[in-house]
Amino acid sequence: MAMITGTTSLVGLVGDPVSHSLSPIIHNAAFSEMGLNWCYLGIPCETENLEIVINGLRKVNCKGLNITIPHKQNASNYCNEISDLSKELKAINTLIPNKKNGWTGTNTDVEGFLAPLKKQDWTQKKAIILGCGGSARAILFGLKILRFQEINVISRNIKSIKKFLLDAKINPENIQKNHIEIKGYTDQDPNIKKILSNSDLIINTTPIGMQKGLKNENGPIEIPLKPEDWSSINKETTLYDLIYTPRPTPWLLWGKEKGLKTIDGLEMLIQQGAASLKLWSGVENIPIEIMRNAAKTHLKH
Ligand code: NAP
Repeated sequence: MAMITGTTSLVGLVGDPVSHSLSPIIHNAAFSEMGLNWCYLGIPCETENLEIVINGLRKVNCKGLNITIPHKQNASNYCNEISDLSKELKAINTLIPNKKNGWTGTNTDVEGFLAPLKKQDWTQKKAIILGCGGSARAILFGLKILRFQEINVISRNIKSIKKFLLDAKINPENIQKNHIEIKGYTDQDPNIKKILSNSDLIINTTPIGMQKGLKNENGPIEIPLKPEDWSSINKETTLYDLIYTPRPTPWLLWGKEKGLKTIDGLEMLIQQGAASLKLWSGVENIPIEIMRNAAKTHLKH
């Protein structure tokens, strides 16, 4: 990173937690390569402070923000402009300062999510999304672009699932046109095992595997759902975990040992980050390879 001086501008990631994030590593490497006198920091922020933090950062010439867990849905409350994509997703991961002294909210997660899946034809396949928060909305949108035929959403909280499905129906024409069937299940549903065994792609959008010490009534949890739910998993299924630290996550490690194909969240992180940086800087050619190498080098240490 270039030396921080009195003219260095701030860019950052607002979330809770943010300490695990590789975004500062990849962005600061890119800023250096691009000759931008910017510094990217993790900005830990609890929900009750979100308004003051986002509004305050706009007042100090901050050049851009990323938004992560658990604020992707609430961040729109503090934007005076919202992109069509974010309106449809009801989730924001990128804030760009605008000329009206406020923030324009948009979403680069869809672009990032799709990058590692593009080589394969997923038409008419079946997918499962685990979790139904901010990034699950971007994932659903991405799966529709890939023309999946059936998408099942499994999450712990019936209220959140209902809201998620309600939000998805905003575009019912799209769903019917592609004959996509979208259903929601709680993680206690007796059909979970059957649904898992019939899926081509399963995406984890919960933080399970990222934070140590997560527990439920059955004890510590490192892998989504109950162990017995996974007992008849199909060997052709691909597991895609949005988490990238630890690498591999306990769930992907389990999948690799079973001989399943696995994708972690690193390439998504790089691609969504590059897309955000393009929007903040107005530069088309983002040094993606530099960002990828910086992340991989950091993860080795
Ligand atoms: P979010 O909006 O808070 O959503 C999290 C979802 O997981 C919610 O549905 C939540 O359920 C569920 N959940 C939370 N804790 C759980 C637990 N202990 N057991 C079961 N379900 C649980 O978060 P997000 O912004 O979507 O981010 C989710 C994850 O994806 C994070 O780990 C984040 O780092 C990762 N991510 C990675 C990338 C990347 O570039 N690789 C991009 C985006 C996100 P409730 O609805 O009941 O709260």
